[in-house]
Amino acid sequence: MHPFVLERPRDLSAALSFGAQPGRNDAPVEYIAGGTDMVQLLQEYVRRPDRLVSLAGVLDDGIEIGPQGLRFGAAATMAEVAAHQGVVEQFPLISQALLNSASPQVRNQATMGGNLLQRTRCPYFRDVGYEACNKRAPGSGCAALEGENRWHAVLGTSDDCIAVHPSDLAVALVALDASVELRGTGGDRSVPLSELHRLPRDTPHLETVLAPGEVITAITVPANAAGLRSHYLKLRDRASFEFAVVSAAVAIETAGARIRQARVALGGVGTKPWRLPNVEQALADRSLEPGELRSAAALAAEGAQGRGHNDFKIELMQRAIVRAVEIAGAHA
Ligand SMILES: Cc1cc2nc3c(=O)[nH]c(=O)nc-3n(C[C@H](O)[C@H](O)[C@H](O)COP(=O)(O)OP(=O)(O)OC[C@H]3O[C@@H](n4cnc5c(N)ncnc54)[C@H](O)[C@@H]3O)c2cc1C
Ligand code: SF4
Repeated sequence: MHPFVLERPRDLSAALSFGAQPGRNDAPVEYIAGGTDMVQLLQEYVRRPDRLVSLAGVLDDGIEIGPQGLRFGAAATMAEVAAHQGVVEQFPLISQALLNSASPQVRNQATMGGNLLQRTRCPYFRDVGYEACNKRAPGSGCAALEGENRWHAVLGTSDDCIAVHPSDLAVALVALDASVELRGTGGDRSVPLSELHRLPRDTPHLETVLAPGEVITAITVPANAAGLRSHYLKLRDRASFEFAVVSAAVAIETAGARIRQARVALGGVGTKPWRLPNVEQALADRSLEPGELRSAAALAAEGAQGRGHNDFKIELMQRAIVRAVEIAGAHA
């Protein structure tokens, strides 16, 4: 492990003053929250900050549901949010996505803010034995393009990076129009979750729109997402403790056997949590009949590009959408 200084600021404004920058491998200062991702990356020499700023005890960990919707502090753990009675009853998509993530031990330790900013599971990124990784070492190339790319993205890719964003939670939240509240030395701002993560383009080492020092303080989900029929379908290589090969987060409003409105997002296939407005529009006012769902889901493949081993994801993600809508609709 690269030697670092651990800072334990007494409050948030002291934490902000260090100018830490999440998600950049060239940042000399980074935050650490639950540590479940960061410590692995430190141990593997993937991250080498000179200074780590602990967020323990300086961020809100509350969970509230009111007329405006759901709000949880960035320090709330995955386990706390997944088990919260109001979340289970009114925003079950979030609870399902969390319970399909990691293990109970990890969920007890990991925070909501850290979950959204966890780094990709691309094996070439996480193994410094491979030199070519533009995300870890800008300009070095991308070993996945000609390497083993079964786990990699088919949506939002570039010739410089095809890494998947790994968070299940982010897929559910982006489907529900969630936003993140940010605080930096310059003040507070709110950013739609759909705009938090950047596409890789030719700068895959820049993963988010966070400015130096900014932290996620809270996550909000509007009230109009409550009460929708929803399902989080996660397809993976083994039944637990595994990241998604493909996942689909679906929330629908129905009138009888017809869909009035739909929200659809995919995980395991995009370089960021991937919302599908074209599929949503096509699903609106359709029946739950499989042929109709199938033709709407086919639009998910627009712009998709496989790189060989991951070509199967383009078909699988369409089937995942159909299945998730069928399951959500069956709750009607
Ligand atoms: C074995 C294992 C299996 C897993 N399986 C899954 C899975 O199936 N699905 C899934 O979605 N995830 C999975 N994960 C990932 C896990 O969910 C994340 O490691 C966890 O959510 C990260 O939260 P943390 O608080 O521990 O973050 P940390 O490791 O402390 O930090 C992660 C990153 O976020 C930054 N950061 C943290 N909090 C903030 C904040 N408030 N503001 C700004 N920056 C911040 C840190 O600087 C760091 O870059 C798995 C992890 C493990 C170890
Ligand atoms: S896909 Fe991205 S993270 Fe993986 S090796 Fe290529 S540049 Fe690195």
